[in-house]
Amino acid sequence: MATINENFLKLQAGYLFPEIGRRIRAFKAENPDADVISMGIGDVTQPLAPAVVEAMKKAVDEMGQTETFKGYDDSGIGYEFLRQAINENDFKARGVQLDIDEIFVSDGAKCDTGNMQEIFGLDNIIAVTDPVYPVYVDTNVMAGRTGSATDKGQYEGIVYMPCTEENDFVPDLPKEKVDLIYLCFPNNPTGAVATKEQLKNWVDYAKDNKAIILFDAAYEEFISDADIPHSIYEIDGAKNVAIEFRSFSKTAGFTGVRCAFAVVPKQLKAYTKDGKAVEVNPIWGRRHCTKFNGVSYVSQAGAAAVYTPEGKKQTQQVINIYMNNAAQMRQSLTKLGYTVYGGVNAPYLWMKTPNGMNSWEFFDLLLEKAHLVGTPGAGFGFAGEGYFRLTAFALPSNVKEAMQRFAAI
Ligand SMILES: *Cc1c(COP(=O)(O)O)cnc(C)c1O
Repeated sequence: MATINENFLKLQAGYLFPEIGRRIRAFKAENPDADVISMGIGDVTQPLAPAVVEAMKKAVDEMGQTETFKGYDDSGIGYEFLRQAINENDFKARGVQLDIDEIFVSDGAKCDTGNMQEIFGLDNIIAVTDPVYPVYVDTNVMAGRTGSATDKGQYEGIVYMPCTEENDFVPDLPKEKVDLIYLCFPNNPTGAVATKEQLKNWVDYAKDNKAIILFDAAYEEFISDADIPHSIYEIDGAKNVAIEFRSFSKTAGFTGVRCAFAVVPKQLKAYTKDGKAVEVNPIWGRRHCTKFNGVSYVSQAGAAAVYTPEGKKQTQQVINIYMNNAAQMRQSLTKLGYTVYGGVNAPYLWMKTPNGMNSWEFFDLLLEKAHLVGTPGAGFGFAGEGYFRLTAFALPSNVKEAMQRFAAI
């Protein structure tokens, strides 16, 4: 008899985006002529930068010639040309010294943030923010690190750290001892960023408790304030306690191309049950190369082009388009009397629902009255109730139209 991994049965049904899709389909079935604008799903809309397209075309041509054809990437962790470019531009330029063997190229930060927990013991206490990017939670449920879901939609055994107006959506240190801490800044869904001092508190906590921080920096390119850190390694000592995740998805429009990377510093240690320190870097390397055979050469060539002078200029222009959207949305919604957070150093706006409406009620109201789609805050966790996420990734013309519709509600 084949038995199933029953941890999967603990996962809550009615996952957020399928439910949103269901409600949109039902609305469209009744209103076939409605022009629905989506500011819901976190996917980008602008095309790849020309420098990236050129590099990918050239790479395809190389693949079509015997002399320059490439098969498996022998290193298994990404071509050196890409890891060098990442190291120079994303880290060295910010005063962070890394070795390119601490950089593991992958096909997504979703997979990396989901897979990383595998190399850690099942007895670790996991801490996540509330609201949270659901991948961190669900992958720990699948692995068996939790009990069942409570009626608050939270899993037994996970420590949830509320992010509220009172703490500027940056969580306080947990009162209980935790071992693996998932942080995401700039944050999806709240758009909040963490200062150097706030991150230093977390690094100190991790040091004091022999904990590890799993830092998702997928949105770091959207930071505009000069004093907000882009990498957790800008904090002294973070290389001893943190893994960082990056992605080309949102920063360079790679959601359909696929290229990302994880940084696992060589001095990062985890422990055996009897307290012996073990280096994490070779273990992640072993896991990565056993279960993954590398990102396509064409994608990696495209990713490397993001770091060329033209590539940098062009991707910055695209980010400016999204951040102009965010600024317009903030301005319009604030003028209409809404309380809005985020949208300054992140492509997400986190707005309070009006008149204490719950977040699904507000979703239905917006869809019916304005034909607009956003994401109910409750879908990201218990503390997300009473909030609503809008993304700045829509086309500028749609943003303009959407703001007019908001005004007419
Ligand atoms: C979009 C996103 C990612 C990136 O995922 P990819 O798999 O690289 O496309 C990672 N983390 C968060 C929080 C995201 O919103």
